[in-house]
Amino acid sequence: MAERFRIHFEIEGIVQGVGFRPFLHRLALKWDISGWCRNTVFGVELEVEGTEASLSRFRAGLWEELPPLARIDAVRETPCPAPLGANGFQIRESRREGHPDALISPDIATCPDCLRELRDPKDRRYRYPFLNCTNCGPRFTIVRELPYDRRATSMSKFPMCPDCETEYGDIRSRRYHAQPNCCPDCGPTLTFSLPGEAPATDDPIGQASALLRAGKIVAVKGLGGYHLACRCDLPETVAELRRRKRRDERPFALMCRDIPTAETLCHVSPQEAARLTSPRAPIVLLRKRPNAPSGLSETGELGVMLPYTPLHHLLMEEFDALVMTSMNVSDLPTLCELHEGNEALADGVLSHNRDIVNRCDDSLLRVFRGTDLFFRRSRGYVPEPVRLAFDCTGILACGAEQKGSFALSRGQYAFLGQHIGDLKNFDTFDFYRQQISRFEDRFGVAVNRLVCDLHPDYLSSEYARERSRREGLPLTLVQHHHAHMAACMADNGLEGSCIGLIWDGTGYGTDGTIWGAECLTGGYTGFQRRGTIRPILLPGGDVCTSEIGRISFSLMWDAGVLPREKAGSPLARMLENDVNCPRATSMGRLFDGVYALLFGRETVTYDGQGAVLLEANAAGDETGAYPVTCYRSDGLTVWDIRPLVKLLLAESRAGTAPDRLAARFMNTLVSLALAHCRAAREETGLERVVLSGGVFQNGYLLPRVVDALAADGFQVYNQTCVSPNDQGIALGQTLIAAKGGGISDVPCRTTETDKN
Ligand code: ZN
Ligand code: ZN
Ligand code: FE
Repeated sequence: MAERFRIHFEIEGIVQGVGFRPFLHRLALKWDISGWCRNTVFGVELEVEGTEASLSRFRAGLWEELPPLARIDAVRETPCPAPLGANGFQIRESRREGHPDALISPDIATCPDCLRELRDPKDRRYRYPFLNCTNCGPRFTIVRELPYDRRATSMSKFPMCPDCETEYGDIRSRRYHAQPNCCPDCGPTLTFSLPGEAPATDDPIGQASALLRAGKIVAVKGLGGYHLACRCDLPETVAELRRRKRRDERPFALMCRDIPTAETLCHVSPQEAARLTSPRAPIVLLRKRPNAPSGLSETGELGVMLPYTPLHHLLMEEFDALVMTSMNVSDLPTLCELHEGNEALADGVLSHNRDIVNRCDDSLLRVFRGTDLFFRRSRGYVPEPVRLAFDCTGILACGAEQKGSFALSRGQYAFLGQHIGDLKNFDTFDFYRQQISRFEDRFGVAVNRLVCDLHPDYLSSEYARERSRREGLPLTLVQHHHAHMAACMADNGLEGSCIGLIWDGTGYGTDGTIWGAECLTGGYTGFQRRGTIRPILLPGGDVCTSEIGRISFSLMWDAGVLPREKAGSPLARMLENDVNCPRATSMGRLFDGVYALLFGRETVTYDGQGAVLLEANAAGDETGAYPVTCYRSDGLTVWDIRPLVKLLLAESRAGTAPDRLAARFMNTLVSLALAHCRAAREETGLERVVLSGGVFQNGYLLPRVVDALAADGFQVYNQTCVSPNDQGIALGQTLIAAKGGGISDVPCRTTETDKN
């Protein structure tokens, strides 16, 4: 008989809540391996014995037959002294000591097997809205703590019935060790209620559908929060939803029953279909067809998702498509619980008694050349960490403000928070702080350094400063665009130095002015500013982000082409006397100003709307561009935007269509990208360019900039793991702090004497 060996394995990665232990069990039986495995706080450990040949097959199978949702990041093997000669393979109780840094899986859309059961009248889970298995179901949104097992989730209050217990313990079952396993006898219950009524269990789907069909708005409790749903083909209903949400002109997403239904309303490429039907089930921006419902978005695109819970699947049997938008007012956090007051948003509530532990909005992305271009990285992705090139243990990066985010790192993992929203809202800021402390608990990270934006007034900076003082932790301040640059480098696994083309709305510069159209060079340890644009004066300051007519006015005034009748106006006097006119080298504000100039619009209702509408209205076949003239100032290559403003205004007055001019404006920005990067290359010899900042979400601009730079010999990188907007900032802050970049503050613990 061949000699047997015994080996202890420690496996790190996404190995909990994805059917990993059942997989180990099956693999062991297949290759005649005996031993045991268990979840630990760092992942999964196992001790197995077998012949050399069977162990090597087992080892290969670990990688080759990995369950679809699992991810192995590291395997440590330690030989054990002697085989025990034991038979069989056991799954043991979880081990709880140590740090809980096992990776918990994101929430996973209903799998095809569960869907078959949902529709099989002979199955005991026929039409049960909460069925799930080891391959699908709620994860992050129901987890309170690690290690991931039932008692650590909001399923703990639903003890399994004997049938479910049997499946849970049966190696041949798809529900073997599926923690949220349940059935109509033991699991959560669906309810429906009208305003002011108690929730009832009598045909909730039927009642909700009837209300929806009648053109009413229904709240639907989903995985990470409530949605508001309504018909998309009734303009009055959509308008009413907009009124209740006070959502002005922001787009609404659509849930379509399936891909063929989505294809009747939008163009769906195979890559887009793959994202839509993937276990992550994000909202994907699709190009509209002529018969797409109107009133949902003012651009040529529509955010579409497919049903991702059994409840959605049952509801969508009744409809081809429903508006499905997060239940909140304006920019406030999505609701996870309903109270008096917010119930008034809906005419009926389809709900259930499984608690949402972690709010998590739908993720939103566009497919760009086969990769993900994130607008929002949230449900289906969080808390899957980003793997880093080096150890960043203990760093808490506090992100920016308007798109609040954070990153907490342990080893070579950065755990990025879900979509949080604008921290200036009290509830949002509260949620931000709560999620940070939950992530610290859950991933067992003792914070040893804080990082925040250089902006002194960001609430995230204030949070970091306050905590640094209170806990005596060192604090690193990172310039906003440097953080964007580092985020794109980390996203692409780059080290060393490169050129960073960072175009966004607003970031605090090292000179105290607002930056946002920057060409930088450098890496994690530091950066140098090389190029920018002529500063735009913002009469009235922040008010310009909504009153974009002020920006076009300022641009015309600066270029000396202000219409005579406006010369003596209060705004002109503000500019002449330089009263409350902060300067911004902001690409976002330039977009706003140009949009106002070309389309004659004075105000926008959400941040970035000007850029979104310029992109949506640009003529795709227009190749014209204006010359880019730069001047040198303080060692910077500065683009003089005044000739551009003059030319746009002249052509606009001569009757050139605004869609032509919008395209020519953005084509000019492509020339600017080239001019800035060429100048930086000449000065430094660097050839790698990272693109970041919210402006690079622009579907017209991004491909043209990438192509123009690549054709000129640059290696170009854009962001594909985290969003190029401020949600991605925290990732960049993390790596900069780890490498000693940024500006370090000496910690000072507040003592009693300080207060006196
Ligand atoms: Zn399933
Ligand atoms: Zn049951
Ligand atoms: Fe930014």
